[in-house]
Amino acid sequence: MTGRRKAMDTAMRQTTCWICGSNDSVMERSSGIEGSVTSRDFAITDHRYGVTGSLFRCRNCGFVQCSDADDVLQYYVELEDPAYEEGRDQRALQAHQLLQILYRYAPTGTPPGYWSW
Ligand SMILES: [Zn+2]
Repeated sequence: MTGRRKAMDTAMRQTTCWICGSNDSVMERSSGIEGSVTSRDFAITDHRYGVTGSLFRCRNCGFVQCSDADDVLQYYVELEDPAYEEGRDQRALQAHQLLQILYRYAPTGTPPGYWSW
């Protein structure tokens, strides 16, 4: 099957929305995946991060889903990304700062104790 034929078949494929169960969807973006998928493809530090399978938008509720892979959890379980782990402290600091901003709008205005390090 040619690449163009495969793209046409994917565009015509009917998907069932994981949220509302509707079968009325439209392809938003064709797959950018070339070859087989491995856990390394899910690494945030990988240069191909953001490449997805075919994305479909539900016309009923607007939810966007990738129906090419039903279960991607195992890829994350097997993923090792030492470069990402090295940035853990910096990400925690950034998350803390973002939460401080958000807490200004929280009903109580007081962050939970475990965030006040
Ligand atoms: Zn839907």
